[in-house]
Amino acid sequence: MKFIDEFRDGKLARGLAVAIRHSARDDRDYHFMEFCGGHTHAISRYGVSDLLPDNVRMIHGPGCPVCVLPIGRIDMAIRLARDGGVILCSYGDTLRVPASGGLSLLKAKAGMGCRSGSHGDIRMVYSAGDALAVAQQNPDREVVFFAIGFETTTPPTAVVIKQAQALGLGNFSVLCCHVLTPSAIASILESPEVRQWGSVPLDGFIGPAHVSTIIGSRPYEFFAEEYRKPVVIAGFEPLDVMQAILMLLRQVNDGRALVENEFSRAVTRDGNRKAQQLVAEVFELRRSFAWRGLGELPYSALRIRKPFASFDAENRFGVSYEPVADHAACECGAILRGVKRPQECRIFGSVCTPENPVGSCMVSSEGACAAHYSFGRFADAAAVQ
Ligand code: SF4
Repeated sequence: MKFIDEFRDGKLARGLAVAIRHSARDDRDYHFMEFCGGHTHAISRYGVSDLLPDNVRMIHGPGCPVCVLPIGRIDMAIRLARDGGVILCSYGDTLRVPASGGLSLLKAKAGMGCRSGSHGDIRMVYSAGDALAVAQQNPDREVVFFAIGFETTTPPTAVVIKQAQALGLGNFSVLCCHVLTPSAIASILESPEVRQWGSVPLDGFIGPAHVSTIIGSRPYEFFAEEYRKPVVIAGFEPLDVMQAILMLLRQVNDGRALVENEFSRAVTRDGNRKAQQLVAEVFELRRSFAWRGLGELPYSALRIRKPFASFDAENRFGVSYEPVADHAACECGAILRGVKRPQECRIFGSVCTPENPVGSCMVSSEGACAAHYSFGRFADAAAVQ
């Protein structure tokens, strides 16, 4: 299979592992953050960490879309489905993210947590276009698409809003929770753990692949120049990630801090201009948005522009965000900031499992906890002892 099999080639992986070992100097440590959940998944699934020397450590970043959704946002979607009586559509992983009171969208769909046992009409969709089709098929019902994700999933949401407007669909709206990658990176770099206390040492980033096909590599140049942190944009196959680690090592050794593009098969410096224009036409920056783990970040998310206000579910149904604290034992916040590792959560793998996630990082296969549970928990447990 083109662009997959050749990026999982064991012989090439062994060669890259040797090159990484030769490049890692014995007299220092290296700490690289992989931004994306896709990278985290690849590192865990293919055992990339096992191929690295002890002084090269990977730190999980906040780039898993469902992981960074705060509880209050899921609560908004549940309120819309249960109290607002809408058909609520979203992606599969979103339905499993824990909300207030032990609920999730999936449990609300089953009528749990409601004295009357009334079911929310909550449906899983594979795309924004599926949600639009549900609205077309149910002209007598209000249909809300719960739109989440980074810059990769934003253009399709913009497309369906424009389509709904062109079709004159009066029963479709979007609960917009799209967030922005550069804001999350800036938040990590500005955090006290990185800037003041040094408890999260960071020598560079593996930058997102799919997000960068939209925004290009240019937005990361600021981080390389201003913070002197090299960034290598990389794909999600194991050899992509290993090549990116090698490129980061070489930059650090040479004292360089540049944006390099390992994923040149899909990413350019300027990205997809057409998609960017579409997003700019439909969305504008929110002043502030709450992220799980990272807190309120200024200008870190999008909302729907006034000309499309009738498609904005927050406007239409008057729902607003109310902050809710995470489960007391859950360390997702610290994990998303790179401060802790999944195995350092005391309920990891016991109370909290992919079948019964207590925190958002255990929901998606891209979440750090789910990736560790599925592929690395026994090795990790041994390492901690
Ligand atoms: S193991 Fe579960 S509760 Fe603990 S940090 Fe991960 S997701 Fe949160």
